[in-house]
Amino acid sequence: MKLLVIGSGGREHALVWKLAHSPHAARLWCAPGNAGIAQERLANGQKIECVNLAADNLPGLLAFAQENKPDLTVVGPDNPLALGIVDLFQANGLRIWGPNQKAAQFESSKVFSQKFMEKYGIPTARADTFSDAAAAKRFAESLSGICVVKADGLALGKGVLICHDMPEASNAIDEIMVQMAFGAAGSKIVIQELLEGTEISLHALCDGKTAKLFPTAQDHKRALDGDSGLNTGGMGTYSPTLFLNDTQLAEVGRAILDPFLRGCAAEGIDFRGILYPGVMLTKDGPKVLEFNARFGDPEAQVYLTRLENDLVELLEASVSGTLDKITLQWNPLASVCIVMASGGYPGNYPKGKPITGLDAANALPHTKVFHAGTALSGDQIVTAGGRVLGVTALGRDLKSAQTAAYAAVEKIHFEGAHFRHDIAAKALK
Ligand code: AMP
Repeated sequence: MKLLVIGSGGREHALVWKLAHSPHAARLWCAPGNAGIAQERLANGQKIECVNLAADNLPGLLAFAQENKPDLTVVGPDNPLALGIVDLFQANGLRIWGPNQKAAQFESSKVFSQKFMEKYGIPTARADTFSDAAAAKRFAESLSGICVVKADGLALGKGVLICHDMPEASNAIDEIMVQMAFGAAGSKIVIQELLEGTEISLHALCDGKTAKLFPTAQDHKRALDGDSGLNTGGMGTYSPTLFLNDTQLAEVGRAILDPFLRGCAAEGIDFRGILYPGVMLTKDGPKVLEFNARFGDPEAQVYLTRLENDLVELLEASVSGTLDKITLQWNPLASVCIVMASGGYPGNYPKGKPITGLDAANALPHTKVFHAGTALSGDQIVTAGGRVLGVTALGRDLKSAQTAAYAAVEKIHFEGAHFRHDIAAKALK
């Protein structure tokens, strides 16, 4: 089969790497890809071909696909899904994996998601949705200002403001709705009560009728050790988390996915792709904070290093509605991914810093360095983004996976590199 993967981050490198293992893959393009993706090879020895088209350049991607006729296109990031790339490709007779624009609303509209969760009884935070700042402030008052104010639309992960008192809540509402700090994404908002507990990531592969739950993973959103510093796209992950045993995970999965599938059927939503609920495990039970409609990044890196199924076959089953015939197989190993970021990230950071030690890190057993913000400058791999690498290692348990991942990080150098030293530490306490 000929495959086209869309995106350029660590998630897409993990997708390409896993798809490349499949004997079904005869040719694979990635648009736009990165320096690490360009080094991958298929089982048949063919190199991966990076195509210089941005993930949100829908007309360019469509023209490329019409010319090169991939048998399946795989969409990594949220933005092209929200823009309707799946509908566009399907309308042109092209087979593509990912939720269509209506289904992608679970991520592209927090108001849509919140209303859906309430209508179909998915456990979530006490919340309400608003298009009027004064009404929003009255609701925030009823929560004593201890709340989370969320812009409705995609805001590069920044449209969520955590508030501890009424002045903070009032400022947050004004920032999003009056000053429009996140543009049109903030014309509507969701306000949720501020929940306490342990946050985990769940993923389920869906085919419109069936949802297959993955093991648990946990991301580390803050830039610095001990969950301090600014929010980022994610500084590291591990799987499994050990916070839920298999029975508890199955129960939590059912509590979310059964009403999700029922609601989708009732609303005529055909969700084929990854549903990724962010879940807070509170003392009153699990509560969904938000839905995403694609693989997490860096969750994909730990999931795909543990997945034993052929990914081409899984995605084909997700597109064709035959997931009920498939059992997900996971290796029993633990996986830890440590993100190495550019100095200054998530603020301003330099680019073009030479990276050394990649071969030495990749040569370590059970270790894979996924690239995110990297590029080639002549023959040299250099930094080209905030999150640069996702250094991922497997181990027989979390501790040994963590030790192996940090041993690989020690081999890699670029000026200003920073990473967290406590990935997976919460589960090892
Ligand atoms: P979201 O994009 O909605 O997942 O929000 C981003 C982050 O904000 C989450 O990963 C949580 O860490 C935090 N968050 C969101 N909603 C809540 C909530 N209701 N209570 C506590 N923390 C939250």
